[in-house]
Amino acid sequence: MPMVSMRQLLDEAAKGGYGVGAFNVNNMEQIQAIMEAARETKSPVIIQASRGARSYTNDRFLYHLMIAATEVYPEIPVALHQDHGNSPETCISAIEMGFTSVMMDGSLMADGKTPASFEYNVEVTKKVVEYAHARGVTVEGELGCLGGVEDGHGADLDALAHLTDPVQAIEFVERTGIDALAVAIGTSHGAYKFSKKPTGEVLVMSRIEQIHKNLPATHMVMHGSSSVPQELQDMINNYGGKMNPTFGVPVEEIQLGIKNGVRKINVDTDNRMAMTGAIRKVLMEHPEHFDPRDYMKPAREAMKQVVKARMLAFGQAGHAGDYEPIPLAEMIGYYKH
Ligand SMILES: [Zn+2]
Repeated sequence: MPMVSMRQLLDEAAKGGYGVGAFNVNNMEQIQAIMEAARETKSPVIIQASRGARSYTNDRFLYHLMIAATEVYPEIPVALHQDHGNSPETCISAIEMGFTSVMMDGSLMADGKTPASFEYNVEVTKKVVEYAHARGVTVEGELGCLGGVEDGHGADLDALAHLTDPVQAIEFVERTGIDALAVAIGTSHGAYKFSKKPTGEVLVMSRIEQIHKNLPATHMVMHGSSSVPQELQDMINNYGGKMNPTFGVPVEEIQLGIKNGVRKINVDTDNRMAMTGAIRKVLMEHPEHFDPRDYMKPAREAMKQVVKARMLAFGQAGHAGDYEPIPLAEMIGYYKH
């Protein structure tokens, strides 16, 4: 199966009432972990790369690893998505390379740090939509700003300072024509989201309900949605790591979001932690080992387990065979009506 558009994955998810995990990758083992988890749970899946990942892999390695993934796992619908494109140029270069979906994050200026005006956001996002839809490629936009910084991207604001305005969201979607909307509801990128289990005051799930009421046909995206589970923190710290205590987004809150129109859930930190914990364990217990496979194999396995758990929790498990992939060339026609 060739890579599919994210629009199709999310439309199908909306029909089926489930969410689809979007997992970040930088290397072969992470792609293998995700694809293996998708096969074992029969899940459609989104694989995404940040600008940092594209530069780490030199783009071409990433692209050919993804082609390999579609050859080895032909039964799995998979979309390749640009995470947090900082400018139309970044998104266009991703589309030229073969990404089937891009995020134009015009909530920040091209430096990836400074909050942008609404008009700037509309202008750059619309520009990307015109280019992408003419090629059958999906576009995610963002309104409001998340807290925290990841991969050098983020305004490092208080997560509650720039929540998505549900009324402004209507105008944003109408003027840009985006397929999916990343919403700011109090989450942050990275591991350090909350200092205690989040309550309704710091994780404002009610915004999601309001936005869904205003925009029932727009797929919502939750960023910064790692759960940062205690057992992964313990795994790292028990084997010589030094992570400070922290709380992520509870899986049950994400499930509540899925009931209210969230269709794409971004997860990165949990997978990074699973791999690092597994590597630390091997190196502590077997200081005599020096073959990278001795720790990369358990790391890949640990990430696979986290991805599988999320696929089951988000409801995408079992849906890989529900539909025939629509080629990107056909998606062009979809956007013309
Ligand atoms: Zn994000």
